[in-house]
Amino acid sequence: MPFNVAVDGPAGVGKSTVGKLLADRHGYLFLDTGVLYRAVSLLALRRSVSPSDPQGLAAIACTLDIELLRAEPGSKHMYEVIVEGRVVTDELRSSDVESLVSEVSAHSEVRTALLERQRDIARASRSVIVGRDIGTVVLPDADLKVYLDASLEERAGRRWKELQQRGASVVYEQVVAELRRRDELDSGRATAPLRVPADARVIDTNGKDVEMVLAEIEASMGAG
Ligand code: C5P
Repeated sequence: MPFNVAVDGPAGVGKSTVGKLLADRHGYLFLDTGVLYRAVSLLALRRSVSPSDPQGLAAIACTLDIELLRAEPGSKHMYEVIVEGRVVTDELRSSDVESLVSEVSAHSEVRTALLERQRDIARASRSVIVGRDIGTVVLPDADLKVYLDASLEERAGRRWKELQQRGASVVYEQVVAELRRRDELDSGRATAPLRVPADARVIDTNGKDVEMVLAEIEASMGAG
């Protein structure tokens, strides 16, 4: 099994930003597993499959046609997501998808349908895999497990700033409420809830920039 880094943590903590940079710097493959759950949610919306229909959602997950491509230099995205041949990178971050995804991902049928795909990717090469259950369920034998944490207020502040920069008009309190709702659903579900893996390196990212967090992870990679 090649060297795998599992990165877990709550919504908006910066897992994708840190994970992508880490992967690029070390020539590892990067997989943001949240994108898979978001893509299933997007297709459920398009096909009018209810978020409370586990069989219908699992059918979407089993046949999910998805590709992650490196973004063009100068792009506002770190990578582009193609679903069924169409670029959906922005759509996956829409409020419609965002408000549905934690309900969709709570179904064990959906998670089972996506599990082996994630493992196959990890088995294929050195990788940084980012999500909620990577160190606990997807890759319990990962070489390095990292759990990124930050207060709700810090995460909401970062997310709000990012949305402002993209020109979206959002109320800070709404961002707080949405992150809190997703945290509660992701931590409270029966299957693969968000947990700190027993053997994870927990990094408190409050008040730290990306470089500081990366340096802490890299120190652990060297030690591992
Ligand atoms: O990480 P991101 O915010 O894109 O994830 C979107 C949602 O997908 C999460 O709130 C969670 O409900 C779900 N998810 C999950 N397991 C993962 C990754 C994401 O349940 N490994």
